[in-house]
Amino acid sequence: MRLRNIKGAGEAVAASRYVIQEPERQAGNWHTLFGNANPIHIEIGMGKGRFLMTLAEQNPGINYVGIERYSSVLIRALQKMEAAPLPNLLFLCIDAGDIEQVFAPGEAERIYLNFSDPWPKDRHARRRLTSREYLDRYRTVLAGKGRVEFKTDNEALFDFSLESVEAAGWTLAGCTRNLHLDPEMNEGNVMTEYEEKFSAKGNPIYKLIALP
Ligand code: SAM
Repeated sequence: MRLRNIKGAGEAVAASRYVIQEPERQAGNWHTLFGNANPIHIEIGMGKGRFLMTLAEQNPGINYVGIERYSSVLIRALQKMEAAPLPNLLFLCIDAGDIEQVFAPGEAERIYLNFSDPWPKDRHARRRLTSREYLDRYRTVLAGKGRVEFKTDNEALFDFSLESVEAAGWTLAGCTRNLHLDPEMNEGNVMTEYEEKFSAKGNPIYKLIALP
């Protein structure tokens, strides 16, 4: 994502009641933060947050946590939350590599990855959010249950992700190379900002669902 630095974004994120500060202190405490025992679903690399905000509106019985590492991006979601707050949505401004420090084992039930950065160079493969290293972290957070759902328009990243899923010993529960033409996989699909942009250009959207 091309990043435009937004003046004051860091301060706004640090002061926002919707962003959990010192998140490593909240591991094991997320249900208390939300004030209920509802399931917790996470989106990693949420960008400006449209996907997660739509889901949070549609599913008041699920708690959502959006992770975005750049304050200049997260601030867009915060502006929308200020205008129309959602009680079942909170944000973290962290790098996803720290996810195991922020959630206790089994605290979340689902992780969404949407249009994650491809990191095309081989030497950067471990940075891809669907690498084995990341899948191992997700397995800890999910404590061996739940699922990861991943969408992309990048075929090379998708193929890499399928290999990672197998190598990490996860089970592939769903897979399509053209989501919008797959009635079963596309049912209830909520489009992300990137999904809308890329599908408007005619790019097929790839999706997989993997169980730890
Ligand atoms: N998910 C959104 C969508 O589909 O429209 C945004 C996709 S954008 C290409 C990827 C986003 O993931 C960027 O906002 C980027 O800052 C964030 N991101 C990438 N790697 C991350 C990481 N390791 N931890 C947290 N956020 C990350």
